[in-house]
Amino acid sequence: MQQANILDTPLTYLKGVGPKRAEILSTELSLNTFNDLLYYFPFRYIDRSKFYKIKDVKDPNVYVQIKGYIRNGKEIGQGRGKRYTAQLVDETGTIELIWFKGIKWIKDKFSPQKEYLIYGKPNQYNRRLNITHPEISILEQENTTNANLQAVYHSSEKLASVGLTTKGIQKIIHNLFTQVSSIIPENLNDDLINKYKLINRKQALKTIHFPEDAQQLLKAETRLKYEELFFIQLQLIVEKIIRTYKTPGYHFEKVGDKFNTFYTQNLPFELTGAQKKVIKEIRQDFGSKHHMNRLLQGDVGSGKTLVALMSMLIAVDNNYQSSLMAPTEILAQQHLTSIKTFLQGLDIRVELLTGSTSTANRKIILEDLKNGSIDILIGTHALIEDRVIFHNLGFVVIDEQHRFGVQQRAKLWKKNKYPPHILVMTATPIPRTMAMTLYGDLDYSVIDELPPGRKPIQTFHYFDSKRIALFGFLKKQIAEGRQVYIVYPLINESETLDLKDLNDGYNSITRAFPKPQYQVSIVHGQMKTADKEYEMNRFKKGETQIMVSTTVIEVGVDVPNASVMVIENAERFGLSQLHQLRGRVGRGADQSFCILMTSYKLSNEGKTRIQTMVQTNDGFEIAEADLRLRGPGDLQGTQQSGVLALRIADIIKDEKILKAARYDAIHLLEDDPSLQNESNQSIKTYLRKIQSSKENWGIIS
Ligand code: ADP
Ligand code: MG
Repeated sequence: MQQANILDTPLTYLKGVGPKRAEILSTELSLNTFNDLLYYFPFRYIDRSKFYKIKDVKDPNVYVQIKGYIRNGKEIGQGRGKRYTAQLVDETGTIELIWFKGIKWIKDKFSPQKEYLIYGKPNQYNRRLNITHPEISILEQENTTNANLQAVYHSSEKLASVGLTTKGIQKIIHNLFTQVSSIIPENLNDDLINKYKLINRKQALKTIHFPEDAQQLLKAETRLKYEELFFIQLQLIVEKIIRTYKTPGYHFEKVGDKFNTFYTQNLPFELTGAQKKVIKEIRQDFGSKHHMNRLLQGDVGSGKTLVALMSMLIAVDNNYQSSLMAPTEILAQQHLTSIKTFLQGLDIRVELLTGSTSTANRKIILEDLKNGSIDILIGTHALIEDRVIFHNLGFVVIDEQHRFGVQQRAKLWKKNKYPPHILVMTATPIPRTMAMTLYGDLDYSVIDELPPGRKPIQTFHYFDSKRIALFGFLKKQIAEGRQVYIVYPLINESETLDLKDLNDGYNSITRAFPKPQYQVSIVHGQMKTADKEYEMNRFKKGETQIMVSTTVIEVGVDVPNASVMVIENAERFGLSQLHQLRGRVGRGADQSFCILMTSYKLSNEGKTRIQTMVQTNDGFEIAEADLRLRGPGDLQGTQQSGVLALRIADIIKDEKILKAARYDAIHLLEDDPSLQNESNQSIKTYLRKIQSSKENWGIIS
């Protein structure tokens, strides 16, 4: 206890800090306590053991450290092109140093007699290398430290103004260690430490800031990554256990007539193995008397809706109502139609409730919902309004989860005495490692298999210059009775501009595909809902052959006869969005195509995205590629999640450690659910500390 308190000491009391620096550390880096500073890790290290000779500096972008003299400093250029340049000279050659900023300050700083140590990243310009804004120090000073690897910390102008440059930060961390190094307690148990031969926490923290060599550093990083991921997983699993055990779940004990009749008589095809597996998982939850909160991931077209429907039938068999919530009216309507078709001949009442349900209809629905004569209610956000009262809601399916906020979901929880079972379906696959971290507190199912007989969509990349060929191809497809989507990006700069792009596109399409032979629909976000639906329905019914639209058709719309998806300015879309759009075709029996149109101007990242789309149809593979390209912070639906603000671990590169940490956390809690064993006290103490701000402590106390 005593020890924990010292690490909680405000930074202002650390030697070398004081109130002013403490204030800036807090506002700039959110560092408030000794512990915060201890975990403020360097973002890279300078390898002071390795010096380059200038003639050996060859690769741009590889950081180098060079000893040399700085000569011929001069200011050149005017206005925005103004810069300061100098030559760095050693016995093997010269390389140019350049400053665009801080010229006034740098100008007279260097003495021609002194030898300097410079550190930086060479750039290539006009086939010559230069180093822009190098780090520079005088050689003698540098030699006083004997460490080879020197930590570099993120600083800022404000921090630097109070002396907290990377060196200043190093210094206060050094002070910190003299003060606390004897009292940094271990937070893992011996089993885990021995299992992976981890170094102890104190050693690891010391080494991460003051590494002796690369090997030690690696050990420290491994240890701290493991620790970080382990405690994230431990918290998630504790939350899951608390929720599962503390929240009673409605007990759906039997699989009855409705389910069985549907399965034997209505189901027009075999379920895939993956669908069977997931239905079984859900059945187990339903029968467990515990509350289910399950995430179902599956690629577009993998048959999630059917899994949801069959699960709802189990609810009906046990005299509970179900509800299916979709993000848009069009999708809700579509679910209603397909579910009604599936359920033909079964005595199950399904209704639709959306914002545009007429007052008269709404009145009837609300009444029958309350008296229990409606079994399944499909709808949009309108479902969560307070006036929607169920007789006995037992199960809620949420489609396309990222569009719903936590608060909206919480409202659903309150629609019955206990929270209904929840199944959240998402068609934006995220990599497993990410799911483990983001949704580690949910049960997790995945449909990793498409129904048989689907022909994989063929994807091509055309440059804009091939438009004539594209039109020829589209005409051929239309002649064969197929329909075509042409999608334009939302560029977001201005809605009017976007609309202009779309309208220009529409005009050129109607010129190339003239009436009366061709009928073209147009749909965009600024149209009235009714108009949108009218156009969408015309396309669905086959009255128009071409649908020109913005991404409003992105999610879930099902027109099996549409077999070609053309995406204009494809380079402007993210990978997951491209994949979602492509998922609109390939739903019927015919060969489908996705054509990605781009200009010749493509960034490397843009090129990779297009290539990935051409190479694979697998949503999970695409999600992995997306994660690699953009990093976890940018992925859809994850922005608000603090879980991914990792200090040292990397969700992509440290997949193995993550998996091990999750496995260990699960097994630890299985063996010792309330962490009572003497050997687990170190873990318990630390977990308590990081959890102390959260409520729901419950089970582990
Ligand atoms: P998702 O919601 O996962 O994108 P859907 O549930 O809309 O996919 O299913 C896509 C299409 O595949 C639907 O027309 C559905 O009826 C059909 N389908 C679902 N499961 C199977 C299966 N096992 N075999 C054949 N077709 C299936
Ligand atoms: Mg769907």
